[in-house]
Amino acid sequence: MSGDVLQTPLQYLKGVGPRKAADLKKAGLHTVEDLLFRFPMRYEDRSRLQPIIGLKPGQMAAVSGEVLHCHVQHTRRANFRLFTALVQDASGQIQVVWPNQAFLKDVIRPHQHVVLFGKVELWGSRGLQITDPEFETVDEPARQSARSDASGEPAAGAVAVRLHTGRIVPVYERTGSVTTHMQRRFVWQALEQLPEDLFDPVPTEILAAHGWPSRRTALVQAHFPDAHAPVDALNRFDTPAQRRLIFEDFFVFQAGLALRRHENAQVRKWRVPVVTDATRAAARAVLPFKLTDGQREALGEIVADMQRAWPMQRLLQGDVGAGKTIVAVLAAIVAMENGYQVALMAPTEILAEQHFRTVMRWLEGTRYRVRLLTGRVTAAQRRDLLPAITRGEIQLVIGTHALVQEHVAFRDLALVVIDEQHRFGVIQRGALAAKGGNPDVLVMTATPIPRTLALTECGDMDVSVIRGLPPGRKPVKTIVKPDARRDEVYALIRAEVALGRQAYIVYPLVEESEKVDLRAATAMAEELTAVFPEFRVALLHGRMKGDEKDAVMRAFAGGTLHVLVATSVVEVGVDVPNASVMVVEHAERFGLSQLHQLRGRIGRGTHESTCVLVYQAPWSDDARERLRAMASSHDGFVIAEKDLQIRGPGDFFGTRQSGLPQLRAGDLTRDAALLELAFSEARARVEGGRLTPAVQAYVRSVWQRQFGLITVG
Ligand code: ADP
Ligand code: MG
Repeated sequence: MSGDVLQTPLQYLKGVGPRKAADLKKAGLHTVEDLLFRFPMRYEDRSRLQPIIGLKPGQMAAVSGEVLHCHVQHTRRANFRLFTALVQDASGQIQVVWPNQAFLKDVIRPHQHVVLFGKVELWGSRGLQITDPEFETVDEPARQSARSDASGEPAAGAVAVRLHTGRIVPVYERTGSVTTHMQRRFVWQALEQLPEDLFDPVPTEILAAHGWPSRRTALVQAHFPDAHAPVDALNRFDTPAQRRLIFEDFFVFQAGLALRRHENAQVRKWRVPVVTDATRAAARAVLPFKLTDGQREALGEIVADMQRAWPMQRLLQGDVGAGKTIVAVLAAIVAMENGYQVALMAPTEILAEQHFRTVMRWLEGTRYRVRLLTGRVTAAQRRDLLPAITRGEIQLVIGTHALVQEHVAFRDLALVVIDEQHRFGVIQRGALAAKGGNPDVLVMTATPIPRTLALTECGDMDVSVIRGLPPGRKPVKTIVKPDARRDEVYALIRAEVALGRQAYIVYPLVEESEKVDLRAATAMAEELTAVFPEFRVALLHGRMKGDEKDAVMRAFAGGTLHVLVATSVVEVGVDVPNASVMVVEHAERFGLSQLHQLRGRIGRGTHESTCVLVYQAPWSDDARERLRAMASSHDGFVIAEKDLQIRGPGDFFGTRQSGLPQLRAGDLTRDAALLELAFSEARARVEGGRLTPAVQAYVRSVWQRQFGLITVG
């Protein structure tokens, strides 16, 4: 493969010393390939040289001409000098000023030809001036009269290649000490070293089908476009060259996911043979209500997966309250009826305990053996529990993710259900597969993941979606209030509690300001106790001991507490149908998806519910946009798309731990269609055995390098 130039470390480029190499490294740029896949932020059309006579104040213009005279000029400020030049073309003259760049006297000399790009300004009453333009000196007057267009082609012969002016110019984001100017030079140098037969991971049929250029051409055009390239399209990242590279980026990533999926699918120890009438009857017996169509469909897809020769890798998406738990439990019953073990994992102990209570309620009177395994299980209990799991006596183990981390050995674990995927990532899922036996894996997420993000985060999985909510739910009314109108919020709480309902008041709790946040929540609990002497108010926060938390949650769930002041530990999954008010304090500090989660805590019963988003004035534009979006939509999928737009994919899951891979060129919002295409092409090629060994090897090497932790194959 002659693509090795791309793997050259950047310090081997001329002009990249140790300092710049270190700066580039800090920005994640190690190799020539990294550099070339770091696209310009935008492009400026500096190709059309303008006659000086026609320049207007305020316009950005490219000008070419001869330096008539130039000199360093002192100013009244000590150490502040200007370098000025008078430049002339066939049509007229213009004054050019570079503040504080006296060294230019060694670069720009009289009679030299220069190309300039900058903003035209009025120069006193005497004419026009350009201040601090980008410029290049030209050895030879490139026979460009002021009227002709400059060619953007790398010029041959005596005329030096112009990178910064007189062409469509790439503008890069500054990287530490590496300016956009330097980066242009490095990129150009790297492009010149690319071999003609540069290895291309994108199959030629795909290139042909879309009219896309080769990899080498695309890289050149994405950085130094031809003179006739459409600048608007370039700035939308919508030229064939750019689209091809964005596709490549997605394709390589998706091919990695598809390869992993394919390889995971090879070995399987346990499999549910058939679903018999007895199994169905067993499931029906525990069913507390009629499943919605969406639930039935999802269950159908899951059970079909469980009967296949290869393990299930399925994501179950459904809005908060859509009723995912029962679907998972019914799938668990199918596995248990076939004599297998099941693990159900939640991100927090509170949630694991809640699942345990729910499941125990549903399975009451059945013969299934269910146990809870969290960090709170004592050593003594563990001594009995773990061997019982290993012997297969326990059929369903409910716990936190510690279930994976701890060395819990199962006898025949056939199904793993992971609740609340957004606390979990691609990487952790890898750890699960390593548990051996390749169990069926069902991941449930209550944060509806926009399709594009699902494809990146979970492109190795199949997706089931439960649309809509179980019948009888009333939409939650959402209002936004400034902190100053707190009295109205209290009045609402009082009225609802008087009707027998309960209220949540949620405080943000972020690590950086944990102590302050906790104090605020504590103070609020005290204030409310004073405001509502007739109500029972309690505080719930993550620092409390497990059994204290449990006691508070139980009291709230049982209706003996009226108002629960909580830090965002209640964010996910907690189910108290009688609660009808959710007050979110400092709502401006929460992300949209988080707010949607919180709002999903209410409106779970048959009562009218209200969510009040209280913000601390003044709010930022961003906060206003978020809170208004919340008030105007109830659809988790719509909100998730909006959240992705506002926050970008990196922040979407709120944590770094999500293991969201860094894409180099693509943008999940802008390039959704290319991502879909990459997903289907990659999967079809991998499943059909049509991905060449060379491309496979390349994909593996990129995954190894970029995503380190994950190994494919
Ligand atoms: P989530 O999808 O957010 O995990 P849950 O599984 O906690 O939702 O379900 C939310 C609530 O809706 C629970 O109280 C559950 O018992 C109830 N529920 C689920 N499915 C149905 C249904 N088909 N009919 C009536 N209630 C349902
Ligand atoms: Mg849930």
